Amino acid sequence: MAQLVWFRSDLRVHDNPALFTACQQAQQEGTDVIACFLRPLEQWQSHNWGQNRIRYTERCLLDLKEELEALHIPLICQDVATFAGQIPALLQLCQRLNCHQIFANEEPELNERQRDQQLIAQAEPAGIHCQLFHDQSLLPLGSVLKNDGTPYRVYTPFRKQAQQMIAQQPVQTFPAPAPVISDPQQSLQLKIDSLSLDQPDLVIFQPQNYSDDPIQQRWPATEKEAFHQLELFCGQPINRYKTQRDFPADAKGTSLLSPMLAAGKLSVKSCWQAAEQIRLSDPAAAESASTWQGELLWRDFYRHLLVLYPELSRNQPFKKETSNIQWRNAPDDLQRWQEGKTGFPLVDAAMRQLKETGWMHNRLRMLTAVFLSKYLLIDWHEGERWFMQHLVDADLASNNGGWQWAASTGTDAVPYFRLLSPYRQAERFDAQGEFIARFVPELAKLPAKQRIQPKGYVQGYPNPVADLKEGKERMMAAFKAVKSESSAS
Ligand SMILES: Cc1cc2nc3c(=O)[nH]c(=O)nc-3n(C[C@H](O)[C@H](O)[C@H](O)COP(=O)(O)OP(=O)(O)OC[C@H]3O[C@@H](n4cnc5c(N)ncnc54)[C@H](O)[C@@H]3O)c2cc1C
Repeated sequence: MAQLVWFRSDLRVHDNPALFTACQQAQQEGTDVIACFLRPLEQWQSHNWGQNRIRYTERCLLDLKEELEALHIPLICQDVATFAGQIPALLQLCQRLNCHQIFANEEPELNERQRDQQLIAQAEPAGIHCQLFHDQSLLPLGSVLKNDGTPYRVYTPFRKQAQQMIAQQPVQTFPAPAPVISDPQQSLQLKIDSLSLDQPDLVIFQPQNYSDDPIQQRWPATEKEAFHQLELFCGQPINRYKTQRDFPADAKGTSLLSPMLAAGKLSVKSCWQAAEQIRLSDPAAAESASTWQGELLWRDFYRHLLVLYPELSRNQPFKKETSNIQWRNAPDDLQRWQEGKTGFPLVDAAMRQLKETGWMHNRLRMLTAVFLSKYLLIDWHEGERWFMQHLVDADLASNNGGWQWAASTGTDAVPYFRLLSPYRQAERFDAQGEFIARFVPELAKLPAKQRIQPKGYVQGYPNPVADLKEGKERMMAAFKAVKSESSAS
């Protein structure tokens, strides 16, 4: 007999409620624990995951395998193409390995939740009990509600309510489980090895070598490194977070933990606790630590929304009327945005940062998203997809939330008439053009002011793709048109 832990976006052994509970139960019952990961490559691709996110997940898996081995838990990795393929694969594994319980952590996305419901519906009649645990957010998904039981649509009251709930019931984490010591695990490993030899349909995927991938080289993917990075950030930079987080040239201005949070290499609760310790013990850093916690709550906010409003997982805007906006069909402008050749230095630097590193600073995600959806009036779905395809930290909830915020189609979105001027943003957050020079070498030799807003023709650098004033007027007209349509209907 064995307990089966199904890993998905929780690729860690610390603070993993499903793993911890399975191990506890195994200890009580004297059974084994087996872990599995069922790679749905086609599904990921249909969800617009690009190579950066996929490879990062595979690297996280390699580390998970090692961490689990130290706990005497074998990890079976299998290719299954789609979510639909995961359910029969799981049921077969249970049958072959004599497992009567599946443990997994909840995910907020619609397809994932529907799949879990289907699993439960098929597993229970077969005598297999499935347990799902609250994991991906600080507070259980969908639990932060107004007094009248309706969801918050605006972040600030959501944050206040969440903070109150956390104050009443502080965030708890689980330790890594103790190594499993039941039936000699060696025999379990042999059983699994023979499974893969005997069953031709059990395709174990072979992780590749990532040493020639410069983007992967940048992003640590082990649990030890994740904790180390969190510790380093909370050791000092967190003190400056409130003042520095908006300056993209400052490489230590933010934590850079997002890939680890997206893959679940690190839990959001571990992050919260680390910041909470600073907040309570260091008065000079308390406000800044609290600001960082506020960002973790933005992440929670978007996850709660995804669960409460399933249409968000179906590509629909939160504000219904905005689905009628007449976006421009402008493939050349879109391509210039994607390639970082808009002729607006900070936008271009940001887009090239994304291409070169698989990551983009938050201030610049806001700027580039507003630039595409407002100044160029190109459908925000194009930008959302491009980000998903290139970000190492690609995450439906935060990406969709961020894009809908920028395009003024979402909850708590920026009012449609409020824009982020690419020149003004550069003056405020990259005044010396330091960041621009790093990613747009054509401009590096110019004096700071010229880097931010080149005067006249610069060799090798494109002219602006749009006139900002005209772009703004075009966007205002498009938004006003749907506003008057919706008030007339
Ligand atoms: C258009 C747009 C698209 C985005 N797409 C993604 C995405 O695909 N994946 C992703 O993880 N984040 C996304 N974000 C949110 C944010 O930009 C990144 O989480 C952040 O830049 C990651 O850097 P960091 O880890 O150094 O963040 P820090 O500033 O150190 O913040 C700590 C953590 O808090 C969370 N966080 C911070 N800001 C936000 C925010 N505005 N919304 C939600 N969570 C936040 C992240 O998990 C982050 O790792 C997007 C934002 C915008 C405006």
